[in-house]
Amino acid sequence: MLSILKFGAPELKKPSAPVEEFNGQLRHLVDEMVETMYAARGIGLAAPQVGVNLRLVIVDISRGREPEQLMVIANPEIVSTEGQQSEEEGCLSLPDFSGSVPRPWRVRVRGLNPRGDEFYVEGEGLLARAFCHEIDHVNGTLFIDRLSGLKRDLIKRKIRKLISAGRW
Ligand SMILES: [Zn+2]
Repeated sequence: MLSILKFGAPELKKPSAPVEEFNGQLRHLVDEMVETMYAARGIGLAAPQVGVNLRLVIVDISRGREPEQLMVIANPEIVSTEGQQSEEEGCLSLPDFSGSVPRPWRVRVRGLNPRGDEFYVEGEGLLARAFCHEIDHVNGTLFIDRLSGLKRDLIKRKIRKLISAGRW
């Protein structure tokens, strides 16, 4: 099991490098990320959240209930968007915090599977949000970076308190 970095870790702010080697090591990392995401009851996880500087994300909005919903995307890119939504969003790197984040309603994503084959996938609603959220991670962006300054400062203040109390 991998440990998930929390807000404040410099790895979360750094844009990730493209995946270039589609080998057993990558597939092993994917397996570990999947196990870690399910254990944390998340619907998505990006490699930088486990301290790996790679453009690699996994998403499963069924939280493991429907295995065919698991998507592994290397070098993900949003190629088109449609509409908009604004819903409460959380993050495994910011446990117990959430905020309403504006996102497109539907997105089309291009990426590579763990064997290096290109594919396209579309998602709307929660799935579209999950794609956007995870792709933000590989660009070094967290959901709180997309909140209003006021809301973001409030969350940061609370986190600073948790850090000084040794509870973060
Ligand atoms: Zn996140």
